[in-house]
Amino acid sequence: MDMSLPAPTVRTTCPYCGVGCGVTATVKPGTIPIIAGDARHAASGGRLCVKGAALGETLDLDGRLLYPHIREEGAMRRAGWDEALERVAGGFARIIEEYGPDAVALYVSGQLLTEDYYVANKFMKGYVGSANIDTNSRLCMSSSVAGHKRAFGEDLVPGCYEDFELADLVVLVGSNTAWCHPTLFQRILKAKEARPGLRIVAIDPRRTATCELADLHLPIKPGTDVWLFNGLLTYLARHGHADAAFVQAQTEGLEGALATADTDCSDPVQVARICRVDPGKLLAFYEAFAASDKVVSAYSQGVNQSSSGTDKVNAIINCHLLTGRIGRPGMGPFSLTGQPNAMGGREVGGLANMLAAHMDLDNPAQRELVRSFWDAPRIADKPGLKAVDLFRAVEEGKVKAVWIMATNPLVSLPDAEKVRRALDKCELVVVSDIVAATDTNDYADVLLPALGWGEKDGTVTNSERRISRQRAFLPAPGEARADWRALCEVARRMGFTGFGYEDAHAIFDEHARLSGWRNDAHNRRVFDISGLAGMHRKDYDALEPVQWPVAPGSSEGTQRLFADCRFAHANGKARFIATAPRAPVHAVDEDFPLALNTGRLRDQWHTMTRTGKSPRLANHAPEPTIDLHPHDALLCGVREGELARVTSRWGAMVARVAHGGGIARGSVFVPIHWSGQTASDARVGALVNPVVDPVSGEPEFKHTPVRVEPFVVE
Ligand code: SF4
Repeated sequence: MDMSLPAPTVRTTCPYCGVGCGVTATVKPGTIPIIAGDARHAASGGRLCVKGAALGETLDLDGRLLYPHIREEGAMRRAGWDEALERVAGGFARIIEEYGPDAVALYVSGQLLTEDYYVANKFMKGYVGSANIDTNSRLCMSSSVAGHKRAFGEDLVPGCYEDFELADLVVLVGSNTAWCHPTLFQRILKAKEARPGLRIVAIDPRRTATCELADLHLPIKPGTDVWLFNGLLTYLARHGHADAAFVQAQTEGLEGALATADTDCSDPVQVARICRVDPGKLLAFYEAFAASDKVVSAYSQGVNQSSSGTDKVNAIINCHLLTGRIGRPGMGPFSLTGQPNAMGGREVGGLANMLAAHMDLDNPAQRELVRSFWDAPRIADKPGLKAVDLFRAVEEGKVKAVWIMATNPLVSLPDAEKVRRALDKCELVVVSDIVAATDTNDYADVLLPALGWGEKDGTVTNSERRISRQRAFLPAPGEARADWRALCEVARRMGFTGFGYEDAHAIFDEHARLSGWRNDAHNRRVFDISGLAGMHRKDYDALEPVQWPVAPGSSEGTQRLFADCRFAHANGKARFIATAPRAPVHAVDEDFPLALNTGRLRDQWHTMTRTGKSPRLANHAPEPTIDLHPHDALLCGVREGELARVTSRWGAMVARVAHGGGIARGSVFVPIHWSGQTASDARVGALVNPVVDPVSGEPEFKHTPVRVEPFVVE
């Protein structure tokens, strides 16, 4: 190598949260890549949080799955790709032949690139003929998807990150933005520095780092968000803050929504009592919302992960529709997605109840449109099983083969011991992953080595609809392959045509063409990136981050939706949704008197397969904790720093007691990151109740009744 040449720098995108920060990686042989923020990326402007900045420390090959393995006589052995793929294709084909297409399933991940997701969805819905493909994004943002579809007619995030800087009031609901979307929070703080009139209201049962920096914190009782926003709706209506012209011309359903809200929530004092917040503070929030024309209401897992998550989303959107605060700079409801490509997965129909390109499984014309575009032999004609139901069907023996990609359901799903029993019984478990040892891998019959961040090539879409390239800057290690390649190879072996892609560019091109594929006016959708179809390979390689829709004949994106006030429902109007408040399904009681809340820590990501490699990230929280109020600790007979057991009706785990998380009395917080691979099994998923939202299928991760007791070694 000519050492006088500068080391090549590759522009790519962070693989962690939904902010989707731009990253540069400078690669020098023999050293770890130098990671920096990409100043040219519009989502982040060169910022990186501590996790993004530590990416270079996570790229070694320790613990990597480098070769295919298959199970033989109970033990795993190394195999060649051909043998492993034959085992997968043969197993899927046999089970489909014997039991039908709904006896097989894919369970994928918001870590996949859009191109992987597209092929997985086409394989299942178009060729296998079953919609049994769901994703771990079901666990984080499916309530927002359902709420968007009900209100707007399509899964659409109206605004952009710049709106947070332009707003007069930023309302953060169930979102520890400072820890979970850090560079976006930095943007808000910087805007506030320049314009002190910008106020931040945080609504969260915990006093998080975000709440510490907010102007007003409403520490609501867990699960009472709908009461709070129904109360806001009635307050705005009664005090003359409705935008009557907008409501009349652009919306429908206000009367029903108001009648429902009025039932329980017309008196702010009563609402404050139900939400367990100071009435003066609640009124201060209502007045601030009423007085600020430019309001952004951003919500995340505290809203979504609930048995009434979809209603919570719609209760928030209702307030923006009433005041006409949508589609213009500095205002709008905004769903903050957890994963790097939760949005991209939705674009290609990566959820069991969706079809590709924002088309609907229950619309026969759209089903036929997608089938004909794919030239597929069949098309799924009904929604498939959502994540929790999917593994329940595995346990019941209805699903007999499952292919799990880039996720660890034995740690992350609720009632995780049930998932263990399900995988133990399953005839064929295939796992594609970058890591050799995970809780889920222990149950695999076939292990397929996947490419990791820095090795794979494709696109992701962030929370503001911005499509960005993830680019490879490292060689594929061992025999690892892209997930889309493994899927295409299995499809080919099963006799399916339509999977002869040469590279990620070819898949993206097909995805972009499908988004613009229409056969009549009834198939018009806002999601359209056909302006990006027909790109040359070198233009795909050089693609700059761009926000969809990207209309035909244009390579420019769209910063905000609904500027023309035309929504995606057939009549062009947005819908108010009547949201009757409901308490969490399982109430605390004498046996289980505390409400368990789960979530992320600042410096870790999911099950720590990458962030766990960085000592400086591990320093922030070296072990899991059971965080509860000192008064509750006293009642439970446990002390800070000592081991305690937390038990629900579904399982138990042991960890050290802490008081640092700003927990209100009656609640417990346990982080989601630790797995059964550590000395003690610290999977909080084993405790979480498997109740889901009836509309979205998203689990109630934020409210499981538990008790905490001293840990006694038996
Ligand atoms: Fe990555 Fe999110 Fe941090 Fe940005 S804010 S560097 S996308 S983890």
